[in-house]
Amino acid sequence: MKALVELEANQASVTKDGFEVELLLNTGLNSTPDVFSEHNFSGIGLYRSELPFMLSNAFPTEQEQVSTYKSLFDQYQNLPVTMRTLDIGGDKQLSYFPINEENPFLGWRGIRLTLDHPEIFLIQIRAMLRASIETQNLRIMLPMVGSVGEVEESKRLIEQAWKEVCWEQALSHEQFPLPDIGVMIEVPSAIFIIDQLAPLVDFLSIGTNDLTQYLLAVDRNNSRVADLFDSYHPAVLQAMRLILEQSKKNNIEVSICGELAGDPIGLLMLLGLGYRKLSMNAFNINKVKYLLNKITISELEACTEVALKGHDGVFIKQTFIDYLDEKG
Ligand code: PEP
Ligand code: MG
Repeated sequence: MKALVELEANQASVTKDGFEVELLLNTGLNSTPDVFSEHNFSGIGLYRSELPFMLSNAFPTEQEQVSTYKSLFDQYQNLPVTMRTLDIGGDKQLSYFPINEENPFLGWRGIRLTLDHPEIFLIQIRAMLRASIETQNLRIMLPMVGSVGEVEESKRLIEQAWKEVCWEQALSHEQFPLPDIGVMIEVPSAIFIIDQLAPLVDFLSIGTNDLTQYLLAVDRNNSRVADLFDSYHPAVLQAMRLILEQSKKNNIEVSICGELAGDPIGLLMLLGLGYRKLSMNAFNINKVKYLLNKITISELEACTEVALKGHDGVFIKQTFIDYLDEKG
């Protein structure tokens, strides 16, 4: 089994017709299976920083956060590590910071909460920066962004923390440049302000889990409406097309970090739309590589043209399933 995994790990992330696809990992705890060598992926596309907070009994101190983050930066020292700032609220609760709301998914979540508590945000950013001084492979990503003001305020705080760290460590801004900053596209309003967001940040990354939840107004964790949580809904497909179009127009990097990228059918749909940078759970990487080597972008573009005319998710999904069946 291990030999097979290693064999696929050594395959290039290239489609049969020669298109390169950049594959990255989603992680939250510092453990990656040992069969995953650096050749297998090109970085961490999403580090869910709330996970160590959720395993703790109190807010981790700045120094504790430095140790946690540093081990990750050191482990992937030659690769970019995209750390998302604390994304609690909604389904992600901290026992030591209870939030009681009637509608938690529409409430105090992600960047909304940390901007209301700048001390939490600043400590985390300082820890990320301090931990990455030697490796300089940090990229900072902001969750649940829905407005330009949130990005401006976050950037102001990040720059403040960066100047403090430079000063304390006697580093010039040239010796320790400000890391790239990006936003997640997972709140529908963000889709329509990419023209305004793009000049403020270095990259965008689509959180398809929340984006689907909010586009369709379907709780991602409610089994009663699980059938309605449809990643292949025509509205999701159209939204994904629009985001790519807007990103290209603004010449800004866009990737996917939601679960859809690691799903075989979702992968085909995203490739057909034109996405080339995908971040996923470690256990999906080899499966995705295996598929890449079998498919062609030109065929997937044709499938996507058909899918874009579909009236429902069943038709859209089936279009790609039929293609996959054809490939055996
Ligand atoms: C997403 O919403 O798609 C995402 C990647 O973030 P999370 O699942 O952690 O909310
Ligand atoms: Mg999310």
